[in-house]
Amino acid sequence: MSSTANLIDDYGRKVEYLRLSVTDRCNFRCIYCMSENMTFLSRKENLSAEELYDISKVFVGLGITKIRLTGGEPLVRPGILDLISSLSDLQGLDELTLTTNGALLKKFAKPLKDAGISRINISLDTLQRPRFRELSRTGELDQVLDGIEAVQRANFKNTKINAVILAGYNDDEICDLADFAIRRDLNISYIEEMPLGSITSHKRNHTELSSKVIRKKLETRYKLSDTNYQTGGPSRYVSLKNSKTKIGFISPISENFCSGCNRVRLTSDGQLLSCLGNTASIDLKTIIRKYPRNPDVLTRVLRTAVKNKPEKHHFNLNRTDILRFMNATGG
Ligand code: SAM
Ligand code: SF4
Repeated sequence: MSSTANLIDDYGRKVEYLRLSVTDRCNFRCIYCMSENMTFLSRKENLSAEELYDISKVFVGLGITKIRLTGGEPLVRPGILDLISSLSDLQGLDELTLTTNGALLKKFAKPLKDAGISRINISLDTLQRPRFRELSRTGELDQVLDGIEAVQRANFKNTKINAVILAGYNDDEICDLADFAIRRDLNISYIEEMPLGSITSHKRNHTELSSKVIRKKLETRYKLSDTNYQTGGPSRYVSLKNSKTKIGFISPISENFCSGCNRVRLTSDGQLLSCLGNTASIDLKTIIRKYPRNPDVLTRVLRTAVKNKPEKHHFNLNRTDILRFMNATGG
């Protein structure tokens, strides 16, 4: 690919990774992600499958090699498998991956594999049934455990668990979650909670727990070694003796990782976010609806958007500067 096909920002960062939110809807209401009563977008407000495909195609032509489908819960979007099949055919795309809460994977694992998903991240914050209900508000742990089994039966490799750790809610399960991952030959990343969206269930500065503390807890049970292992995302990984499991830390609060950021996000209603932790966005939906099937216009807009990507986020757990919830952002 020629260098003119690259998306490079003013800080010299090359953007190669698109997180595509295909819906803001979800069958869970996780307390750190959403408020209890949410209003979701209408079908018309969301990008159609054709619009998602057209935008993705232009991105891939500009050097995006990895797309992760997310949401909301991507598997609740009607027609998701057809969308995946069409995206997986894009020439130049190396990886099409998925982040899911896992509740629908029992039904979807095999069709996802057949449609072209290469890797799956599954969110799992607790292994205790009542606590799972408390954290997700509407979810059932057993559905997710069945989903994980289905993914492994469908022969997906490098499946990863994502666990958001909240002090006082699930920090006593840090080692148990690692044990689970090790027993099942899964990778696992621990995520620091970000102050996205205004919530009432807890104060984010009360539940803050840094990756450093999480790592210390893990070290009471395991011997961890730093690695250079990378999957293109923000996790920093360590390995364990006598295990294939990699343990990752995603530390947006305690350790700003923006200097290595290679990502942009597209919300389900077509807002391009060149930074998760900034309010600026570009309304690609209006552009694509005004200039349908016009890759030249989109190309110009995408180049400018990436060029102006903010240098870094400025998260502060004492404030909610960004009112957009994570389900609308596309995690
Ligand atoms: N519904 C899918 C799921 O839960 O995996 C995909 C979307 S979800 C928004 C993507 C990831 O963002 C999940 O791993 C979730 O735990 C994480 N997440 C949600 N809200 C967050 C927050 N405020 N801070 C940090 N991570 C968050
Ligand atoms: Fe839904 Fe994922 Fe947000 Fe939980 S984290 S409410 S599963 S979008």
